[in-house]
Amino acid sequence: MGFVDGNAPDPKYWEKMRLVAEVLKAVEGPIYIATHVDPDGDAIGSSLGLYRALKALGKDARWVAEPPRFLRFLPKEEEYSDPVEKLPPGATLVALDSAEPSRVVGVPVEGFVINIDHHGTNPRFGHLHVVDPSKAATAQMVKDLIDLLGVAWTEEIATPVLTGILTDTGNFRFANTTPEVLRVAAELVGYGVRLAELTDRLQFRPPSYFRLMGQVLSTVAFHFGGLLVTAHLPEEAKREEEDSDDFVGLIRYVEGSVVSVFLRRREEGVKVSIRSRGGVSAQNIALKLGGGGHVPAAGATLKGVDLDRAYELVLEAVQEELRRAGYL
Ligand code: 5GP
Ligand code: MN
Repeated sequence: MGFVDGNAPDPKYWEKMRLVAEVLKAVEGPIYIATHVDPDGDAIGSSLGLYRALKALGKDARWVAEPPRFLRFLPKEEEYSDPVEKLPPGATLVALDSAEPSRVVGVPVEGFVINIDHHGTNPRFGHLHVVDPSKAATAQMVKDLIDLLGVAWTEEIATPVLTGILTDTGNFRFANTTPEVLRVAAELVGYGVRLAELTDRLQFRPPSYFRLMGQVLSTVAFHFGGLLVTAHLPEEAKREEEDSDDFVGLIRYVEGSVVSVFLRRREEGVKVSIRSRGGVSAQNIALKLGGGGHVPAAGATLKGVDLDRAYELVLEAVQEELRRAGYL
């Protein structure tokens, strides 16, 4: 049951990636590149990197995305396109970092679909799919794809690709930081990425964000003897501040905690971000709540519930997982 096998590395990774490269090289029609809703650094970085590589190959590539404020320094405005309702006949769609077809944003999932992702819970949708949860970031997979496409590396292509790796590894701090990741990162820096400038720039937030942080921290609460730490976004937060938040990344360092959950109200319900350590699976908790993700970092949207009900559901799901992991 569940996604136990879904988290295994794909033994056919290179074979599949080579096929994707061959297909993309052969495509003459438009290639749409899209990523997931609430795009993070890996979503924007992997898709912009692939877009630039395909453009360098002379392809009719289109990148459909709406980069959040903190990542808007990466692309030029003319590089990203508005959402489209229908893809033209013969179009190819590359969905990147999208754990489910329903999470792909800005384009319908149609045409010839190529799914490149590293979420264990990905249902392996698409005509071609390369899903490898052992990869730290989708951007790391895009690095391999760009090598296979034979595109010459430039600072412009390497910078977004390294961005995806930096953000999904928490600047090389998370357990997904393998020797391979560090070697790939070193190679990308060698192509001219200005690393210190990039890591600095990725942390920039508007002044209002820092005021909001104070309000968020005043909602911090502890449960199950401190094993779980929670916080939520106050009602008055602006969407722009919300998009750039990593509040769950802030509260996850409470001593003694093994799970942290950050909740925020959305039109459709309450979105929860979950992080875990010490044998506890954020992925299991997210799956119980109807979402998905990685073992240490996952999320879900609880549809049609208010914040109080969302807290109840989160506490139930976390309790079950803490029991499974032997904490309770
Ligand atoms: P975050 O909490 O940062 O939004 O998401 C953590 C991880 O879980 C990311 O890799 C993200 O793609 C994934 N994730 C977040 N929400 C959902 C969801 O509703 N469904 C699925 N399948 N994955 C999600
Ligand atoms: Mn990712």
